[in-house]
Amino acid sequence: MGRANRILHVDGDSFFASCEIALNPGLEGRPIWVGGGRRGDGIVIAANRTAKQFGVITGMACFEAQRRCPMGVLCRPKYDEYRRLSAEMFQVLEFYAPTLVPVSIDEGFLDFTTMDSHVWRNTTPDAYMRQIGKHIRDATGLPVSGGLGSSAKLAKLATDAAKPGFMEVPAGTEKEFLKDRPVRELSGIAKNRQRSLASLGAFTFGDVARLPAMLLKQKFGIWGQQLWLFANGRWQEPLLLEVKDRTTISSSTTLPCDEPDYEAALTFTLSEATRLIGQLRREQLQARELSLTIRFNDFTEAGGSHRFQHPQFRNSIINTTVEGLFRDLMSCAFRPVRQIRLAFWNLTRLDTTPTLWGTTDAERLGALDEATHAMNQKFSRPDKPALMTGAQLALRKLDDAHKNPKAKCPFVPQREMVKKLWGTDADPLVHKSDWEKRLMKVSRQSGFMTK
Ligand SMILES: [Mg+2]
Repeated sequence: MGRANRILHVDGDSFFASCEIALNPGLEGRPIWVGGGRRGDGIVIAANRTAKQFGVITGMACFEAQRRCPMGVLCRPKYDEYRRLSAEMFQVLEFYAPTLVPVSIDEGFLDFTTMDSHVWRNTTPDAYMRQIGKHIRDATGLPVSGGLGSSAKLAKLATDAAKPGFMEVPAGTEKEFLKDRPVRELSGIAKNRQRSLASLGAFTFGDVARLPAMLLKQKFGIWGQQLWLFANGRWQEPLLLEVKDRTTISSSTTLPCDEPDYEAALTFTLSEATRLIGQLRREQLQARELSLTIRFNDFTEAGGSHRFQHPQFRNSIINTTVEGLFRDLMSCAFRPVRQIRLAFWNLTRLDTTPTLWGTTDAERLGALDEATHAMNQKFSRPDKPALMTGAQLALRKLDDAHKNPKAKCPFVPQREMVKKLWGTDADPLVHKSDWEKRLMKVSRQSGFMTK
């Protein structure tokens, strides 16, 4: 057997709530929660530990949270700020490992497999993890927890066991660590598999480990085999960076107020379409099909879809189609619009190199789009984009409530995240040796290697 894999999982503690405290240190020590929904006071989307002690949980109505914890503080979500803090957190993590795989806004895996031959010679994995946690806390004000183990799955379980704090499952002790833990804690385990395991009398990993391997293989195939190995502490899995293309992109937006003016709702829809197309373009994708669903204030819906003859990426063509679809749907509608859902699917790769001097529209418009995006990155403030399309400008003129229509989905897609971290999404491991050099330097600086 080769060298044991060492994978670190890092996860922000009550991330959104912690962000609020990082942004406003006066809240430290007080019970706080972040509210979602139309006005930021719908349901609780995150609560800090102090609030949880009062029985405030994610998914609870904000008024119920207020009832259980009258001195608690309700915060409206500030997704742009959460995204910024997340990026800062990953910038710190970048320092510590040659391979970093972000999986959500506040969670990622680091590959520490080769650490014992250099960095850990002069420190312990535990001290190293704590150093990372402290570094993140000092740089961003955010508390994180972490777990270290022989696979990503195990590392995640260790984090859950450690929260708040850090935990290592040393090589060889995996089976012991897992013995009494329920299998439902395994990330991504489906309900029907949990039920099938329960029908075999297997509730904990210890139970699974005692079952005959053949039985699990018969019942669940490869997955069953892996689960048996995992439960027996014999599952080794290297950290893989999987950058998958998305197959669909969509948005669902509840308007700030029920909108009786359909032209205003159309402007909103077109602006949202433009945003999604921009996102597709940045990921070098184009769409073959789209659908639009309008939900009215009585919760009835009207919807339609369109299939292009060829995959499309051009704003003007897609917006014309969206407008046609919208007018069709609304031709005999009369109720105010509550929510607009827009989806693009049947996505294919846009294989062109953007250049202003290109011979095809794809090349030229792609270059314009990249330039627009770059200028917005550079010169925009959240409340004041540097460049807007007609629809976005019209939306802004419409009314103040629409002024900040995005900042919804806090999750940065992996491809974009990876691109940001490495400057390319081609093959992040190309940079691995640079990384190892940089890592050596950093660890020397932070005193992990004295000689
Ligand atoms: Mg978290």
